[in-house]
Amino acid sequence: MKKGFVVLVGAGPGDRGLLTLKGMEYIKNAEVVVYDRLVSDDILELIPDNAKKIDVGKESGRHPVPQEEINRILVDEALAGKLVIRLKGGDPFVFGRGGEELELLELNGIPFEVVPGITSAISAPAFAGIPITHRDYCSSFHVITGHQKKGEELSVNFKALVQSGGTLVFLMGISSLRQILDGLLAEGMDKHMPAAIIENGTRAGQRKILGTIENLYEKAVEKSVKSPAVIVVGKVCGLSDRFDWFSKRELMGVKIIVTRPKDSAGTLTAKLKELGADVIEYPCIEIKEIENNSRLERVVSNIKEYSWIVFTSKNGVNILFEYLKRQNKDIRILAGQKFAAIGSQTAETLAGYGIIADYIPEIFDGKHLAEGLCKIAGADEKILLLRALKGSAEITAVLKENERAFEDVPVYDTLYVNKGSRDIEALINGNPGIYVTFTSASTVEGFVGSIQGIDLGKITGICIGSQTSKAAEKYGIKHYISDEATIDSMISKITEVQYERNTATKTEK
Ligand code: SAH
Repeated sequence: MKKGFVVLVGAGPGDRGLLTLKGMEYIKNAEVVVYDRLVSDDILELIPDNAKKIDVGKESGRHPVPQEEINRILVDEALAGKLVIRLKGGDPFVFGRGGEELELLELNGIPFEVVPGITSAISAPAFAGIPITHRDYCSSFHVITGHQKKGEELSVNFKALVQSGGTLVFLMGISSLRQILDGLLAEGMDKHMPAAIIENGTRAGQRKILGTIENLYEKAVEKSVKSPAVIVVGKVCGLSDRFDWFSKRELMGVKIIVTRPKDSAGTLTAKLKELGADVIEYPCIEIKEIENNSRLERVVSNIKEYSWIVFTSKNGVNILFEYLKRQNKDIRILAGQKFAAIGSQTAETLAGYGIIADYIPEIFDGKHLAEGLCKIAGADEKILLLRALKGSAEITAVLKENERAFEDVPVYDTLYVNKGSRDIEALINGNPGIYVTFTSASTVEGFVGSIQGIDLGKITGICIGSQTSKAAEKYGIKHYISDEATIDSMISKITEVQYERNTATKTEK
């Protein structure tokens, strides 16, 4: 990647999927990222840990970092030889002052590039079921700033806008909503003209207010609409309810706390977000490989003694193969062994290393794994367990009962990360019945340990299996167990419970 170079990147309206591939590539290679208030957390998370992050976000009405200062930062960092990414919400040139920032770069002979972004002017309406143009209703659309300089009149040519007959999209218009609507009415626009406000477009908290130019202001006040929001005026707004796909998703706006460790939360979080959920990642455990593990060393060098290698999580799998790699060994040393995995996820991880599990129990838990293994493994076959230090006693109890020769080797420890913050307390207190996903008994322990002082009766646990359920029960957490011990099954359980909740509130009304 180039050095001493500035890239103006449009981050899009919020949803990570709406960032361009080119923008993503640049962010991942950034050395310095200068970003605005409108760039979503979803996008900020893509910035590498070792990059310098400079927040120049402008709160409306306040300007913590003046424009000249931002321009100066860009020049200085580029002159220091860095790859500088200037990240802006939406598209950098749509009311984003991108042009102003390029001026100083150009004057200083600093090379730059521009990566356009998806503007909120089009995407927020699209996520609210409003096509910005439609042949039956209009032949143009106009994007207008509703920003008003202090003490000055709104400088908008309402007459021309009304005459155009096109769809009108106002950005930065919430504080001047009254003047905008009055301006249109004064120039003769039909008072029944459909209009809409889309707040937090494309994000989990998106809200839509529909009305006409005559009543939109009252509705906005009633719902206390806040920035960022776009105002759309035009007949196309009338299609909104029919075309609204976004707010109809099964978990739209439903708050869910995910307690998995950060590096494995990804799929669960992404899948829940796809369904519209507002996911709060709150990792309660951390997986730590046992270092200088002499027991692992010993069993690997005597691996021929063991007929079966058994994994109770993908962590064990990853750690074994990382260990082999460090020892300059590969899967050929495991050619004579058979493999058992507790569930489909563990088996999938194993398959990633080129090994197809010989046995996966029908019910994904320790008890069924051990019972099944005792049935299919020969009486003289020795079993090797590679698992957590605090692994449950269920498996070993069954193996002992069946008089099996086995060796239980801990390869990782589960640490509780007790970060219990005010935010999480406020979140739980303010949202009774909030879902908390528990993907292992240890996440329950970690969660409970981290939030002392909160009434656990306030949460609804979603547990992956019987062991996890037992842990939740111990603390009196009201919970549901997924039908299968998989992430997908947990998600189905949440949608099921949520569907019931929604129907219950509808009947109450
Ligand atoms: N360059 C940006 C616009 C910057 S001006 C773009 O192309 O989208 C800031 C205004 O953009 C806000 O006041 C609001 O009107 C609009 N905006 C930005 N993100 C938004 C979002 N996610 N939902 C609704 N409006 C948004």
